[in-house]
Amino acid sequence: MSGTVGLEAELKRATEFPNLHVVHHPLVRHKLTHLRAKETPTPYWRPLIREIALLIGYEITRKLDLRASRIETPITAMDAPVLAGLPPAIVPILRAGLGMAEGLVDLMPMAPIGHIGLYRDHATNLPVEYYVRLPEAKNRLFILVDPMLATGNSASYAVDVLNRHGIGDDNIRFMALVTAPEGMRVFNEKHASVQVWAAALDERLNEKAYIVPGLGDAGDRLFGTL
Ligand code: URA
Repeated sequence: MSGTVGLEAELKRATEFPNLHVVHHPLVRHKLTHLRAKETPTPYWRPLIREIALLIGYEITRKLDLRASRIETPITAMDAPVLAGLPPAIVPILRAGLGMAEGLVDLMPMAPIGHIGLYRDHATNLPVEYYVRLPEAKNRLFILVDPMLATGNSASYAVDVLNRHGIGDDNIRFMALVTAPEGMRVFNEKHASVQVWAAALDERLNEKAYIVPGLGDAGDRLFGTL
């Protein structure tokens, strides 16, 4: 079967968003299918979202700068590459971002972790802030993590929070699992220069602002609170 099965419409949708990078690696697509399937239970869901985050994180960090470090192998001395700057900070948006953040920590155990607590007011669909704690901002890349970029309101608000703490859009990356065109449009009204990575750009939002086809409520599926 072709590696691009089912991708034609999604690729067409994605042309509207130059700052969106959808990772179409076959393992990412395979794992996303199991995350979407309604019969996948929480004990299987947790490791899957952690693994898929690690794979997306690998793409997000592809362009990190390196410098030479003098080391000795058991055989000889050599100049070998190590990361040049401070390790990126990982900032999950609570609570659904926590599962994906674990995959990024697997990839970068030296990364400091911040937290942004937002919940969605179900009457207005707007985010309400209840907790913010961030690592030192200077000279660091910040990776915001939230699996569902649905209305785009929380994602945009979380970038505002980082901006308020002195972190410019150029030093922010956004990691999602599934995005919706409506949310990307809202996000890009204020933050079109922030690069977004995800495993899918789905069709649309439904009347309850859930992504279609989506995977349901990511927080409930991660924490077993269905
Ligand atoms: N949040 C979720 O968990 N799922 C959606 O589809 C939209 C927002």
